[in-house]
Amino acid sequence: AKREGRGRYHYFSQDLTHAARARLELESALRSAIENGELRAYFQPQIDIRSGHLVGAEALVRWHKNGDRVIAPDAFIPLAEETGLIVPLGEWMLREACHQASSWPARRGNPLGVAVNVAAAQIRRADFADMVLGILAGSGLPPERLELELTESSLQGEEDAGLAQLARLRDAGVRIAIDDFGTGYSSLAYLKRLPLDVLKIDRSFVEHVVNRRDDREIVTAIVQIGRTLGFKVIAEGVETQAQLDILDGLACDLYQGYLCSKPLPAEDFMAFAKHGTAL
Ligand code: C2E
Ligand code: CA
Ligand code: CA
Ligand code: CA
Repeated sequence: AKREGRGRYHYFSQDLTHAARARLELESALRSAIENGELRAYFQPQIDIRSGHLVGAEALVRWHKNGDRVIAPDAFIPLAEETGLIVPLGEWMLREACHQASSWPARRGNPLGVAVNVAAAQIRRADFADMVLGILAGSGLPPERLELELTESSLQGEEDAGLAQLARLRDAGVRIAIDDFGTGYSSLAYLKRLPLDVLKIDRSFVEHVVNRRDDREIVTAIVQIGRTLGFKVIAEGVETQAQLDILDGLACDLYQGYLCSKPLPAEDFMAFAKHGTAL
């Protein structure tokens, strides 16, 4: 029994070593991926539900590892957040997204917007607002065309310094969205205190909006909160026409999801924006 126990301990510690080594390898690969241009910004169309018109896109990072394999963000964003690599990664995404968006055509006279995900560690930097304004100036993208997506949890612990930076960006015309709304613990008073423009309904509520009454009630409530407080409301993860019909009935403003298009490489989004159809 003793030997078995020791054997188990041996395997356990070996597993830990493997896991730790794999993590270190991933970390150093990600570090060079940022420097070597292996990251790409993909763009998922955002649609005005009433008119059906394209209004912009959310930028989502993809890692083209060694040129061929495409790695989805869930496999490396958590590690990037733990190691602080999310700061240079996020800055790169912001610069790339603004650069791409500056060349998008206007649709029916309306310029297209771009939404970029921002991690908590980014807004904690004292120079965050200056960094964003610098990137906007460098790309020539008007601030009104940029939206920053923050999660409830990343805003929750935020002291006044972080909120003041967001307020400063908002004064410059940048829009602020709460991502994955409804999955955290925001109180209504808290919502009122934040410099906000957009509520983004999490995909987990949209998924069963057709056949689960409680999820439909939650979506209804979020749309009403948004309307009361003067925010736009966007639903993410819309995959079926039945889901879209319900959102339309609730007067939800915007949607994105596979029903319209998955996230597209920059060239494909450009073609989508010109012709209004996915390739
Ligand atoms: P998110 O911000 O909630 O982004 C929405 C995710 O839902 C994206 O996954 C998108 O591809 C996916 N999605 C969109 N429509 C549908 C649909 O109809 N059905 C389904 N099943 N999924 C849909 P993705 O691109 O894998 O990104 C995952 C998460 O990684 C994002 O969730 C975001 O939290 C994070 N992320 C991605 N890019 C960045 C970035 O540049 N910076 C930061 N900080 N986080 C990022
Ligand atoms: Ca997002
Ligand atoms: Ca989201
Ligand atoms: Ca989500």
